[in-house]
Amino acid sequence: MQDPIGPDRRRDLAARGFSRRDFGRLAAFLAAGSALPFYNEASLAQGLSAVANLPADAVRINANENPMGPCPEAAEAIHAVVSKGGRYLYGETTEFVATLAGVEGISSDLILPFAGSSDPLHRAVLAFASPTKCLVTADPGYEAAGRAAKFIGAKVIRVPLRKDGSHDVQGMASAAPDAGLIYICNPNNPTGSVTRKADVDFLVANKPKGTIVLLDEAYIHLSTTAETGTPHVQAEKDVVILRTFSKLFGMAGLRAGAAFGRPDLLERVKGYGAGALPVTGMVGATASLKVKGLVESRRKIIADLRTETAEWLDKKGYACLPSEANMLMIDVRKPGGRVFEAMVKEKVVIGRVWPSMPNSVRISIGTANEMAKFRAAFAKVMNA
Ligand code: PLP
Repeated sequence: MQDPIGPDRRRDLAARGFSRRDFGRLAAFLAAGSALPFYNEASLAQGLSAVANLPADAVRINANENPMGPCPEAAEAIHAVVSKGGRYLYGETTEFVATLAGVEGISSDLILPFAGSSDPLHRAVLAFASPTKCLVTADPGYEAAGRAAKFIGAKVIRVPLRKDGSHDVQGMASAAPDAGLIYICNPNNPTGSVTRKADVDFLVANKPKGTIVLLDEAYIHLSTTAETGTPHVQAEKDVVILRTFSKLFGMAGLRAGAAFGRPDLLERVKGYGAGALPVTGMVGATASLKVKGLVESRRKIIADLRTETAEWLDKKGYACLPSEANMLMIDVRKPGGRVFEAMVKEKVVIGRVWPSMPNSVRISIGTANEMAKFRAAFAKVMNA
């Protein structure tokens, strides 16, 4: 097999504290990609084996998916391209990048396309963290970065969210002078809470020199108050942004996403693919970006259902953290795992439990019908 690391990268890895023994695992990671034990929402979703045999009519609000799926314009573009799928179709990837650059108001060379955002998330950890350069992340937070860091032997420092669910940017900036990467998810998964622009700006200005800030904006389209960090990318700061079409755009199974950053940073997270990505994902994403008002209308549909659910829970005596995404973290005041199991028996699969919030469960916002079924099952299970 060809050496997937190569001499330059070997020198870089050795300089960052990787031992020769680590090279074997990294080579396997670079060559095998998804065969390794990395995680996305679907694989992290709690109790997959427990829910494997559930009937088709079970409600699945466990993986922050969007039940609306791709918009009609995306579905049409995907149908139209299928018969041409025997070709590599590089042009569709180029058009996706150009369209995204136009929407975001940044230049195309600051954008690297991917099939979703898990791949660049894992690659960014590999590129910027190491056994001598730790990862700083929030608690509770999306676990994928921490798991990738653990895999490569990088230390993980978890900084608790503030009471309002925002990132403790002061705590994160000063957590480790040798941090390789500081991971911010805005809005945050699992809480849906927002970290304000002033806080993100503070972090970028006050992080240790050379540390990269990874801004995961998977849920940014669902919030009215979270602001994108793209001005930092435009200003050539040490910032990489992740975007995905898996959430508001309803394309989790179709796969499209991107990383934004300075070309030298993107070079370090670049994959080893053919250059063309799955054309169905590319044309679906491009078509979605061109639909006027799509973000606003979907954001409102999800926000209305989220508010309705949170108000109902509140009336029943169960508090949620304020969320601006397609999820709610509910304080169930008893071990969340028990509530999960009881809900599965009612054919409603809810999200997982985070160790730092053992008495809370995360639910995703499904359709109106699914949320009605959730309410009925939750009232029964909690005797509420
Ligand atoms: N980042 C966050 C915060 C997520 O919640 C998810 C999935 O739920 C991802 C990244 C990865 O999603 P995908 O690979 O589908 O883009």
